[in-house]
Amino acid sequence: ASAASLALVLTACGQNSEGGSEEDKKGSEDATIGIAMPTKSSERWISDGANVEKELKAKGYRTKLVYGEDDPDQQVSQIENMITQGVDALIIAAIDNKSLDNVLQQAKDADIPVISYDRLILGTENVDYYASFDNEKVGELQGTYIVDELGLQDGEKGPFSIELFAGSNDDNNTKYFFQGAMNVLKPYMDDGKLVVRSKQTALNQVTTLRWDGGTAQKRMDDLLTSSYRSARVDAVLSPYDGISIGILSALKSDGYGTKAKPLPVVTGQDAEVASVKSIIAGEQTQTVYKDLRRLAEVASDMVDAVLNDKEPETNDTESYDNGAKVVPAFLLQPVSVDRNNYEKELVDGGYYTADDLK
Ligand code: BGC
Repeated sequence: ASAASLALVLTACGQNSEGGSEEDKKGSEDATIGIAMPTKSSERWISDGANVEKELKAKGYRTKLVYGEDDPDQQVSQIENMITQGVDALIIAAIDNKSLDNVLQQAKDADIPVISYDRLILGTENVDYYASFDNEKVGELQGTYIVDELGLQDGEKGPFSIELFAGSNDDNNTKYFFQGAMNVLKPYMDDGKLVVRSKQTALNQVTTLRWDGGTAQKRMDDLLTSSYRSARVDAVLSPYDGISIGILSALKSDGYGTKAKPLPVVTGQDAEVASVKSIIAGEQTQTVYKDLRRLAEVASDMVDAVLNDKEPETNDTESYDNGAKVVPAFLLQPVSVDRNNYEKELVDGGYYTADDLK
């Protein structure tokens, strides 16, 4: 064959004229996936890292997993390092969703696809797909639980007092969780059936930086002092288990948790072991379970598809506009869990063993 036709054949096989293979960087063989997770301070992200690595390794990929200790600058430099090291794709759960613009431009320039994991990265076109849960639904489940538990649906009970907590203001999920809860709670607040005695009802009044339980505990302490000396709080909207545990500590220090002064309804999210135990012990009331095994599968399938020039499966191409583009997403369904269904959902479902919850 002539050199020209040989070159043609090689090109068709994905070989370039230098004899190297363009396929080197594609598919699972030899490809390394960089995984940037936000923090080890919460159980869920530790599981996420382990689950994603497991899924990718099963597909034959190499992985590089890093945790950013809830420090946005550290996360940016970790991602920069992975780009320099030549990873072939990135899976990122952002700490501050607005701080990744520059580093994702570097990823784009190096032709590295990016999957936004659980939390949507904002303000950049350089995010290819989004793997998450229906985040507004998470809030709706929390709000609905409060309404049902207080017996508000029948229209006769109330008024009850409630306080509202939201997540970190730099996490895009925060506003979806809060909005979802407000979709359900606001009509009762407008009717006077639910009363927020602190009057702190706007999202920017109720956020909890970096989802920190200690910060939430401090705010709950302050609320109890300022607004509940002559009244009792009946429900607390909490967006996340770590925050719920902080809220419960403040309540217990204030004498809640007795027959005369029962704990309020306290929601949560993530079905973390400490919170499921608390639910079993009758303290935290509810959590929202999100099967992280499935999320890891979805994100890994996305990477695998993109690296093999296939279109990843998505089920939502409208909801998640990051300010620069609508990011095609695959959203999983969250499940409300309390003491009545934790065994069915978490133990029978294989998420935890009965021993984990002892
Ligand atoms: C996640 C939640 C988690 C929270 C705090 C959110 O972005 O969606 O599952 O509870 O971060 O880690």
